[in-house]
Amino acid sequence: MSAYSAPLKDMRFVLNELAGLAEVAKLPGYEEATPDTVDAILEEASKFASGVLDPINYSGDREGSKWTDGEVRTPKGFREAYKQFCEGGWNALPFEHEWGGQGLPRLVSTPVQEMWKSSNMSFSLCPLLTGGAIEALVLRGSDELKKAYLPKMVEGRWTGTMNLTEPQAGSDLSLVKTRAERSGDHYLISGQKIFITYGEHDLAENIVHLVLARTPEAPEGVKGISLFIVPKFVPEKDGKPGKRNGAKCASIEHKLGIHASPTAVMVYDKAVGYLVGQENHGLETMFIMMNAARFAVGLEGVAISERAFQRALAFAKERVQGRDLVAGGKSVPIIRHPDVRRMLMLMKSQTEAMRALAYCTAASLDFAHKTRDKHHQAFADLMIPVVKGWSTETGIDIASLGVQVHGGMGFVEETGAAQYLRDARITTIYEGTTGIQAMDLVGRKIAREGGATAKAWIAEVRKLEAFPNLQAGIQAVSDCVDFIVAEKNPNIAFAGAVPFLKLMGIVAGGWQMARAALAAEKKVSSPDSSFYAAKIATARFYADHVLVQAPGLRDAVVKGGADVMALSEDQFLAA
Ligand SMILES: Cc1cc2nc3c(=O)[nH]c(=O)nc-3n(C[C@H](O)[C@H](O)[C@H](O)COP(=O)(O)OP(=O)(O)OC[C@H]3O[C@@H](n4cnc5c(N)ncnc54)[C@H](O)[C@@H]3O)c2cc1C
Repeated sequence: MSAYSAPLKDMRFVLNELAGLAEVAKLPGYEEATPDTVDAILEEASKFASGVLDPINYSGDREGSKWTDGEVRTPKGFREAYKQFCEGGWNALPFEHEWGGQGLPRLVSTPVQEMWKSSNMSFSLCPLLTGGAIEALVLRGSDELKKAYLPKMVEGRWTGTMNLTEPQAGSDLSLVKTRAERSGDHYLISGQKIFITYGEHDLAENIVHLVLARTPEAPEGVKGISLFIVPKFVPEKDGKPGKRNGAKCASIEHKLGIHASPTAVMVYDKAVGYLVGQENHGLETMFIMMNAARFAVGLEGVAISERAFQRALAFAKERVQGRDLVAGGKSVPIIRHPDVRRMLMLMKSQTEAMRALAYCTAASLDFAHKTRDKHHQAFADLMIPVVKGWSTETGIDIASLGVQVHGGMGFVEETGAAQYLRDARITTIYEGTTGIQAMDLVGRKIAREGGATAKAWIAEVRKLEAFPNLQAGIQAVSDCVDFIVAEKNPNIAFAGAVPFLKLMGIVAGGWQMARAALAAEKKVSSPDSSFYAAKIATARFYADHVLVQAPGLRDAVVKGGADVMALSEDQFLAA
């Protein structure tokens, strides 16, 4: 089985040539992100990913996390890996100095997180959720809560969870029923949450749950939801974990993938909880946090694609089958066959396009964070549902292509190719399904502001004239934006939301590949000429095989809405 090797060359290329690391490093507070420091971080992270996380990915999938009497045991090697992860300071990397973090830009933590996700997606979910909980506390926690929780969570000694989902409240959080009753300086939380990632485990000394719940007098719907922090062990005055709280793990799910990541059913029975922010404003805080979490899940799409590609490439070089169409002779490695090449190129080109879009979005988030620049924030807001929805949907396609390259050996578990497809499958579901991302894109990010941010971006892309199929692609986006802004029937506008999200992803990816080709052309006679020549060829492949799909998607959005709504509910099954 081939080992994971971080794509450092491409990561550096994207950071420096496309995402503007040098500019980000000039922002106040990010001066430490010098090229040497960033290089050293990437090198070290790649060693950790390949040496520690990758070796326990397959075994972790086979063994899975196990539940007994409310306790959860993670697979062999996970505890030791997590200890090393925290000791190495990796958990603290993206967080503010004030709380013990390293204060690095998101643009630097993004490739590092890509490595964790590529090498072991199940493992990476624990720090991902901790990060989400940290962000909520930084944003809205009282000083007292921040002091009590943040340093330990940033260090990774305590982990975090996000408790939104209940059996009757999935995409629709207005239906949340968990109750919170005031009791002195705290609240007592009661109810059931499902699907809670790392809701219980044996990696850390405490687990800090962020829980959405309603106070007795709260209004119905989303305006009556508050956010609470509910620790597994309530901290004592000295800060150490104290009394066991009434937050118990009733079971964990048996799932299609990410077997090592425990997905918990959590039962809260008068558990001590503390309000984060104001009563009835919980969902607002969650939404701010969700942007970061959605971006992080989008990055899972990039990461799993990279891993699936690496494995497929290694297999294609080894597997001998069929003759060379031109040279004939003996059987050859399957990488010589045009159709296998086509599959590998689809995997490689889309992975590189998605990586570039994700890193550029991360850079915009850094600019927005440090300069309060509205344009950067608006661009990131526009692209986050695209990074999430497009990269994860494409990630599944790429993992599936990885299985295809392996032939029958991809369908059996021994090669590991099947695991990536199974693991990838959740990415389009959690943190908001693709349908929900697409509605966010069409409704909040385009229709609500008359398409202003999208139009500014379209004008930017129009400047890159020479790249094949890009202008037709951006025209398709422009037509759809006009259609969405003008369409009065939401059923028709939203019927095309997912095809539109895909179109946005494909064209935004094409825009990045066009920029990549331009940057590579300037360097093609440098010592690393082979990398740059490959980048140019990969960009051209993307234009001819992926970007070319844009006009068809435009038609699905602009003309296809009525078709989607055409059948009555009875007609779906008419014989
Ligand atoms: C492995 C795993 C880990 C998870 N981790 C967490 C976690 O840590 N914390 C947490 O709180 N939750 C977590 N979840 C829950 C996850 O976020 C939800 O599963 C997800 O939000 C979808 O909700 P649902 O499953 O209830 O599906 P539903 O909301 O029932 O959706 C079913 C289908 O209907 C569509 N749909 C629903 N509403 C609309 C609409 N208005 N318009 C158009 N289409 C719609 C959806 O797109 C989907 O295709 C996890 C889930 C899993 C499986």
